[in-house]
Amino acid sequence: MLKPEDHIFTNLHGIKPFQLKNAKARGDWEGTKGLISKGKDWIIEEIKKSNLRGRGGAGFSTGKKWDFMPKISDGRPHYLIINADESEPGTCKDRDILRFEPHKLIEGALLAGFAIGANTAYIYVRGEYYHETLYLEDAIDEAYQAGLLGKNAAKSGWDFDLYVHRGAGAYICGEESALLESLEGRKGMPRLKPPFPAVIGLYGCPTTVNNVESIAVVPTILRRGADWFAGLGRPNNTGTKIFSISGHVNKPCNVEEEMGIPLRELIEKHAGGVIGGWDNLKAIIPGGSSVPLIPKSICDKVLMDFDSLKDVKTGLGTAAVIVMDQSTDIIKAVARLSKFYMHESCGQCSPCREGTGWMWRMLDRLGKGQGRIEDIDLLEDVSHQIEGHTICALGDAAAWPVQGLIRHFRPEIEDRIRQSTRG
Ligand code: SF4
Repeated sequence: MLKPEDHIFTNLHGIKPFQLKNAKARGDWEGTKGLISKGKDWIIEEIKKSNLRGRGGAGFSTGKKWDFMPKISDGRPHYLIINADESEPGTCKDRDILRFEPHKLIEGALLAGFAIGANTAYIYVRGEYYHETLYLEDAIDEAYQAGLLGKNAAKSGWDFDLYVHRGAGAYICGEESALLESLEGRKGMPRLKPPFPAVIGLYGCPTTVNNVESIAVVPTILRRGADWFAGLGRPNNTGTKIFSISGHVNKPCNVEEEMGIPLRELIEKHAGGVIGGWDNLKAIIPGGSSVPLIPKSICDKVLMDFDSLKDVKTGLGTAAVIVMDQSTDIIKAVARLSKFYMHESCGQCSPCREGTGWMWRMLDRLGKGQGRIEDIDLLEDVSHQIEGHTICALGDAAAWPVQGLIRHFRPEIEDRIRQSTRG
C-alpha cells in the first residue's frame, strides 16, 4: 500500500481548494526555475530513468517519447499536446486532476514543453467536462498573473503559452492523431502512421501528445528524483497510479496507489469491497472498457500493473476497474460495450465500420439466447478480422472485450442458447 508521504496527488478528492495559493502550499511550483536550469537533456534523462510509462492506456515510455522529438529545430515550432479527452468508459481519473490538481498539470506542461522544445501547448479537454474546463482555465489565468506562464515563464528564461481547447464529445478524439485533426478544425479521424506526430504532428510540426496524468506527475518526479519514482511498484511498472474503481463495489472511488498492488487489495481497501463480498464477484474489466475482462479466478491473485495484466491476456489500459458481481448479465454487458464502439467508430476503415456493427448485432442476439452455438466461433472470427487490421486502435479496443467474453464465459453463452432452444 502506498505510504502517505509517497502520494503525488494529495488533493485528489478536492478536500482543499485548487487555487494557486493552496497548490503552492502542497508543494507545486517549488523550484521550477531550478529544474529548468538543469537543462532539457537532464529532464528527459530523469523521466526515462524513472521508467514512467504513459498513463493514457498504451503504457509507452514517456521519456522515450520525448526523446523522439528533434533536438534541433528545423525552423518549425514544436508543440506539446495534453490529451484530456478522457472518454474511456469507466475512466474518470484525469477529471479529478483537472478540477482539483490543475497546477500539477500546468507546471508539468511547462517542464515537458521546455524538455521537448515547445513554446506552445494545448490541453484538449473532453467536451462534456464543462466545469472541469472552467476550473482549469481559472488555474491557467492565475499562473499567467503570477508570471508562471507566458514570457519568461516562472523566470526560467523559457517562453511558454498554454491554451485550452474543448472537444465536442467524440470518443475517437482521444486517439492522438484524431485529436490533432480535431484541433486543426477537421473531423476527428485518425491519421495513418507513420509519419508519427514527433515528425509530422500538429500543423505539420513536431508534436508530442501526452496524457494528463503522465504530465501531472512530472514535477514531483523531477523534484523527488527518478530513483524515488522507480523505487515504487515493480521493475518496468514503476511509480504511483490513479485507479478509478466503479461498478458493483460498496464505495466507487478514484484512488492513487502503488503500481502492482493486488487487484483484490485495491478493491477491498479503497472501494469497500465487492457488493455481497469477494465471493460474489463474477468478473472485472481492469483497464477501461477496451481491455478484455477477467473472471474471479484470475482476479484473486493478479497484480495491477502493465506486465502482470498482460500475462493474463488483458491490460492496465487507463486503470479503470469495472467490477461486475454475480448479478451481471455478462453477455449483455459486453454487448453494450460493443454498441458503444459501433457508435464511436469514425467509419474510415471497413473492418471497424462494418465489424463493430456485426459484433454488436451478434452479441445482442446471443444475449437474448437467439443465436446458434456456431455463432460463437463466427463472432470470435469476426473479432480477429478486426483486430490489427485497422488504422487506429479503436478496432482492437472493440475486438478485445468480445474475445475476453468468449475466452472466459463461453459455457454461459452456450447455456443461454440451449435454454432458449429448449424453452
Ligand atoms: Fe476509424 Fe475505426 Fe478505423 Fe479507427 S479503426 S480509423 S475508429 S474506422
